[in-house]
Amino acid sequence: MTEAKNVMVFIEADRGRVADVSLELVCEAGRLAERLGGTVEAAAMGYGMTEALADLGRYGCRRVYYTEDRRLERFASVPYAKITADIIRRRTPKVVLFGASTTGRDVAPRVASILRCGLTADCTELDIGDYRFKDRQWEDVLLQIRPAFGGNIVATIVSPESVPSMATVREGVMRLIESDPEARAEVLREAVSLGGDDFPTEIIEVIEQERCVDLKSARIIVAAGVGASDPESLKLVRQLARLLGGVVGASRPVVDACVLPRDHQVGQTGTTVRPNLYVACGISGQIQHRAGMAESKRIIAINRDPDAPIFDVAHYGIVGDVREVIPRMIKAYKVRGTL
Ligand SMILES: Cc1cc2nc3c(=O)[nH]c(=O)nc-3n(C[C@H](O)[C@H](O)[C@H](O)COP(=O)(O)OP(=O)(O)OC[C@H]3O[C@@H](n4cnc5c(N)ncnc54)[C@H](O)[C@@H]3O)c2cc1C
Repeated sequence: MTEAKNVMVFIEADRGRVADVSLELVCEAGRLAERLGGTVEAAAMGYGMTEALADLGRYGCRRVYYTEDRRLERFASVPYAKITADIIRRRTPKVVLFGASTTGRDVAPRVASILRCGLTADCTELDIGDYRFKDRQWEDVLLQIRPAFGGNIVATIVSPESVPSMATVREGVMRLIESDPEARAEVLREAVSLGGDDFPTEIIEVIEQERCVDLKSARIIVAAGVGASDPESLKLVRQLARLLGGVVGASRPVVDACVLPRDHQVGQTGTTVRPNLYVACGISGQIQHRAGMAESKRIIAINRDPDAPIFDVAHYGIVGDVREVIPRMIKAYKVRGTL
């Protein structure tokens, strides 16, 4: 049997549209596959998705193993896990990646349990490297990197004896790069026999809830922390966001206190963002918050504590009270047309 070298991505889709997190993972898989001397493959299931799947070639995917069935049009944990495990058994990739999304977090542990292999949840970085333990050495293992112990340390986790190595990866942390707009992936049909027992749940009705804010694609985010969560300060944060053509973000305690809905949360357990401009208002800058915004192109921090850790990642720091600083920023922007 030839040595497994390929990297496989579980494709998440909603009514035929491939999720951004899957595209990000296909790009990251390309980098890992190059290190392993393998190729990028994908496991997909759904209905009427052939064209969308062939399009994955633009991001570096070579082959897609696709199971088509009308009953798979919407995500269902049990059949999706069964099909994914089946594809992995047949195609023997070395690494399998899932988004750390609601769908990925549901399906990946089920697949790991069927295949009896390791799974590292919520990775923020991946790499390939050698691993030594006592007198044993493993080559080209997946290094699964993620914050641990409440974000106070960054752990590198390996599962060298587990084939394949499987990880879920946070949305928004891997870069989305279209490597060749003309390239097409080969879509191969995978026949899997599915009986009534494989569908223990029936979807009777789907009620869609609109996201109240799309942080991931926002180019400008003005975020409120505990220091800007009182009604007066929040009004100023909203005003500044509106003026700059941006959206409002928040730290976790602001969301936990129900001041803003969960969709607004930036950070380790919220959304990872990379806007052109991030204005942090009254945010201390704990590691769990920084994990979600430190890669923003420009960061302006307003905090009345000159020692606040947010200033370590800010390009421009303003020491002061948000209730004084934001009105001055708004005034300056109205006069000059820039901050
Ligand atoms: C497992 C885990 C996951 C987590 N995930 C996340 C996450 O995804 N996102 C997240 O944000 N947090 C997360 N946290 C929480 C995180 O550790 C911090 O508690 C949180 O980020 C702090 O939010 P904050 O900066 O708004 O509040 P605080 O830490 O209370 O800071 C408030 C800041 O506002 C300043 N301030 C107060 N009043 C004013 C004023 N009038 N003008 C100017 N400045 C003022 C203060 O000087 C202070 O620096 C997580 C924690 C854990 C353990």
